[in-house]
Amino acid sequence: MQIFKFGGASVKDAIGVKNLVEIVSSYTDDKVVVVVSAMGKTTNKLEELVKHALAGENYSVSLEELKSYHHEIANELLGELPERYLSFEKSLEGTLADLEQYDSMLAYDKVVPHGELMSTSIIEAYLNKNANSEWFDIRSVIRTDQYFTEANVDWVVTEKQIAKDLKPIAEKSIVVTQGFIGSDVEGNTTTLGREGSDFTGAILAYCLNADGFTVWKDVPGILNADPRILNKTEQYEKLSYREVTEMTYYGAQVIHPKTLKPIAQKSIPLIVRSFLDRSKDGTTIASENTTKTIPCFVFKGNQLLVTAQVKDHSFMNEKKLGLILQVLDLLNIKINLMQNSALTFSFCIDNKEFKSRRIKELLNRDFILSFDSPLNLATIKNYTSESFNMLPEDRSIIMEQKTANNYQVLYR
Ligand code: ASP
Ligand code: MG
Repeated sequence: MQIFKFGGASVKDAIGVKNLVEIVSSYTDDKVVVVVSAMGKTTNKLEELVKHALAGENYSVSLEELKSYHHEIANELLGELPERYLSFEKSLEGTLADLEQYDSMLAYDKVVPHGELMSTSIIEAYLNKNANSEWFDIRSVIRTDQYFTEANVDWVVTEKQIAKDLKPIAEKSIVVTQGFIGSDVEGNTTTLGREGSDFTGAILAYCLNADGFTVWKDVPGILNADPRILNKTEQYEKLSYREVTEMTYYGAQVIHPKTLKPIAQKSIPLIVRSFLDRSKDGTTIASENTTKTIPCFVFKGNQLLVTAQVKDHSFMNEKKLGLILQVLDLLNIKINLMQNSALTFSFCIDNKEFKSRRIKELLNRDFILSFDSPLNLATIKNYTSESFNMLPEDRSIIMEQKTANNYQVLYR
């Protein structure tokens, strides 16, 4: 069995959906489960709708735009709006109308999943015209906790449910299902975090013991830098799970960070390839598989440097460091770079207003805090002496760190 994942960019219009259907229906070597995201920029649009609806603002123009975007695609493909699509559209309208009673994270998870539910309804209806396919509600098998917007998967329940309810269908038909969403024990829909459809594909690959997991993208494979930032990029042919895990740790947006663990555990090959040019093989990620270690560049903007200074002229000792790390763990904050000195501890994180407010509240009592933003963070993994020339020349360095393989610099 193979798992295919198609992201929003691949199904942003009717041509994209036709291309998906061509790829899926021409693949006859094996059974396929197709995981699809919301169409185009739908998720961003739905996030805006949530914001407006919660604030009691008028959102009808945005909602109409979102509806007509989907109608246009469905009409072009099918000449009509599928029943299932219409029922999700109706549920979206109803949910938005009642949204103000919910806390913002629960509200998000009630609204945003409609993107995936609507896209898969249209896509499966179209695929069904020339293939034996089934639409499947992934919420019926992926069980999560109630950490809304960033839910964690209950693997024991999920694995059991997939084996019982999804596997028999996938053995008979091409299954089209949603990425990014699941449900909690009470039946509330939950989401797995932005870009979470890759992770859904990995969950399915793991639980169905798939022979392979292919992520179809608008790039030819995994590149050693974001082509929007560096104009000279190289593509990796082969990478190891470990290498890609590290790349995602430093913030490379090649694949959702949670994707690697489940597929590496079962040694399932992960292939990243282009839905635009199927003649290219893309990048294969498998066990120890790295052909060469081309330096990999990761640039992250909008970084915040927090410096915590002890108040009483004692040292920044292990106890105090422990206190700070506990607070960051509690707030679910990832440190991108850190450094300590006799009296201070400095750490660089993604700059999010509500998180820095919470840091202040929780650490103000014991430390003098200072904040510096917006900064940029560049990481070069497997650096060479030439690779430093790729960094912006006029950078003014705030903090830097170099190990045997990696170099990181925080600059303004
Ligand atoms: N539609 C969701 C997002 O845009 C999930 C995904 O695309 O992976 O984040
Ligand atoms: Mg996406």
